Amino acid sequence: MFEHPIKSGVFERCGRCGKGRLFRGYLKFRDECDVCGLDYRGADTADGPAFFVGSLTMILFAPFYFILPLVQLPLLQLLGLWVLLIGSMVGFAGVLLPKCKGVLFNLQVRHKAEEANFESTGQHGQPPRNWKH
Ligand SMILES: [Zn+2]
Repeated sequence: MFEHPIKSGVFERCGRCGKGRLFRGYLKFRDECDVCGLDYRGADTADGPAFFVGSLTMILFAPFYFILPLVQLPLLQLLGLWVLLIGSMVGFAGVLLPKCKGVLFNLQVRHKAEEANFESTGQHGQPPRNWKH
């Protein structure tokens, strides 16, 4: 019934059928799966993908930001290396971001993760109305 959430997320496909596309733009979700009809509006990945991709990108690229200032090269070659470093970092994060968002979204769909929904009595110190002793 469900595709593997990581595999389908990496390919930016629906977490239930594995065929329908998740996004209609770069990071904008479709309203529903165009193959199985799964509603995409229920889950929200918030800033999770940005956190994970940003952290991984900084871990991988940070050493170069310490090494590059120590390199003795003519100015233009040094400038070229900086442009290459920054460009590859932006490209790396840009490619990874929709894939990470797809994985996190499919994990939410798979595990039925949604916002907590509590019923309140409106009074402190009182048990909820549906409390069972
Ligand atoms: Zn689907």
